[in-house]
Amino acid sequence: MKSVLEKYIPVIGLEVHLQVLTQSKLFCGCATLFGQAPNSHVCPICLGLPGSLPVLNGLVVEQGIKMALATHCQIAPLGRFARKNYFYPDLPKGYQISMYELPLAERGFVEIEVNGIVKKIGLTRIHMEEDAGKNMHEGIAGKSHVDLNRAGVPLLEMVSEPDIRSPEEAAAYLKKLREIAVYTGASDADMEKGNLRCDANISLMPIGGTVFGTRAEIKNMNSFRFVQKALEYEIERQADILDDGGKVVLETRLWDTKRGATFSMRSKEAAHDYRYFPEPDLVPLQISVAWIDAVRKKMPELADSKRERFIRDYQIPEYDAIVLTASQALADFFEKAISVYGQNKEKAKVMSNWIMGALLQELKNDHKEIEEILFKPEDLATLLTMIDDGTISGKIAKSVFEDMYKTGASPKIIVQEKGLVQVSDEGALEKIIDEVVLANPKELAGFKEGKTKLMGFFVGEIMKKTQGKANPAKVNELLKKKLN
Ligand code: ADP
Ligand code: MG
Ligand code: ZN
Repeated sequence: MKSVLEKYIPVIGLEVHLQVLTQSKLFCGCATLFGQAPNSHVCPICLGLPGSLPVLNGLVVEQGIKMALATHCQIAPLGRFARKNYFYPDLPKGYQISMYELPLAERGFVEIEVNGIVKKIGLTRIHMEEDAGKNMHEGIAGKSHVDLNRAGVPLLEMVSEPDIRSPEEAAAYLKKLREIAVYTGASDADMEKGNLRCDANISLMPIGGTVFGTRAEIKNMNSFRFVQKALEYEIERQADILDDGGKVVLETRLWDTKRGATFSMRSKEAAHDYRYFPEPDLVPLQISVAWIDAVRKKMPELADSKRERFIRDYQIPEYDAIVLTASQALADFFEKAISVYGQNKEKAKVMSNWIMGALLQELKNDHKEIEEILFKPEDLATLLTMIDDGTISGKIAKSVFEDMYKTGASPKIIVQEKGLVQVSDEGALEKIIDEVVLANPKELAGFKEGKTKLMGFFVGEIMKKTQGKANPAKVNELLKKKLN
């Protein structure tokens, strides 16, 4: 890869398909539910039966407007649906309703950061289209079946400018789009369910050149890692061809995970192959300024500005802010917890440490999301307050936290029921210290002879005797007095 990059610059443009988060399909009332019995969510419209007429789902437009606003696009006052004609068994109508000459939005950008360098990636266009069904071959000997539950499910296609210059930038761009989609609620962008899929276009340009080379298009990848790996592979493959004086062919290729290679699927179709024409069954889409404004008012604060606000208002390090704004729910959890615990720099950092450490670790071990957590942010605030006011020690707090996480019980109740309150009372502690010192005459003699390290032994014994409940600072103080 290194030597290749001394000669060529990769030029990459991505086409991303996002499944829009709506209850019903793009042009009919059928549910968009995933994992249902085959062909259980279909109707004459999404089956493409003659005489049925599509009706546009306004919520999809709204979700599209959200993505367009979040990516700084110009929203078209007039959009138009178009028929993209091709034959495939999973497309009962013989055409897909998409948008062609007049998309939903154009000329936006997304900001990414790779190795500390911030860069804008241009967005060419965003358009709405319907998904196709799914052909099923596995486990069906000698036959293929078609499941049309997905036919007519709304998608947003987001096409980038060829501004991306490395596989790392491609991955950063995809992560950014996913983050925006999740924050705006336009899509859950769940890649395992195929709700975010990507076609990657890539070509190589000799260093110092000004004209882009011929690209290959790698179809339909649903993992950031695959996109990155496929692009890395393509860079090597195309460089080998160019080094040998050959020409890269404009074609559609597939990524084969098992072989770790891309292979040719078909020569690339051109727009005229699809015989696009305006969809006669749908009126042109008019998006008023008032509609856009209404959607803008509903837009949540996006990750980037939340991150900046966290750094500014709570004075937490940038790294913490990035972790805590990974999702809206996590950011909300932190803010709620801090609002109860207290809003100063020190407390914010302590809270951040607990969330990034103990909390995210437990969630990761359990493969769970923050939304599934059993206790409330207020409970975490209470726990930290109990450490601060000396009710429990930091060590005990860890075990209380584990209890809270497992059962959802409030920390006060856990501490009470398990009798975990820290012992700071001097009288009580002195009594225990006396007992421990009396019971260990040999160590006491050793200490008196100058083995000061035995101090640790005594502290350990006292902690053992109190099941970790003795206030360690107090124990140290009293023990020193006693022994000297
Ligand atoms: P199509 O719809 O046929 O795939 P488009 O013109 O819409 O073609 O381009 C699709 C994607 O290919 C866009 O993301 C664009 O940025 C990218 N692209 C266009 N030309 C090149 C090139 N020479 N090298 C790499 N990517 C390219
Ligand atoms: Mg394409
Ligand atoms: Zn339907």
